[in-house]
Amino acid sequence: MTDISTQPQTDTNDTPTIPNDTPDMILDLSPVTVTVTRTPCACGCGEMPQRPTARFVPGHDAKLKSMLIKAHLDGVQVIQLTDKAGTRDLSPLELATELDWDGFLLVAERKRDREVAAREARKAEKSA
Ligand SMILES: [Zn+2]
Repeated sequence: MTDISTQPQTDTNDTPTIPNDTPDMILDLSPVTVTVTRTPCACGCGEMPQRPTARFVPGHDAKLKSMLIKAHLDGVQVIQLTDKAGTRDLSPLELATELDWDGFLLVAERKRDREVAAREARKAEKSA
């Protein structure tokens, strides 16, 4: 059994006393475990956006926009969308409306209709 009083004592008189005040600044850099849920790019490519708050990999919003425009003009009726709310069926225009892109689809539709009308007018002019 060891008696503490007989242990050799180190001389603590040379050590400056540190005042026991509240520090002006505290830096706590101890590691913390964080669970991060990341959502893949909203275009459906499966890649992860770099920023956790980003919905798209850079440039992929334009990719989805052009896919929705093409689907709308081709008459696609149903797109199955799976997100945090679950799985649901939407038309390309409904999905574009959720993304606030419905204007792009409607402008493309109007442009296509004008082109079709102009083509038919030229055809009618030739046959007359
Ligand atoms: Zn993507």
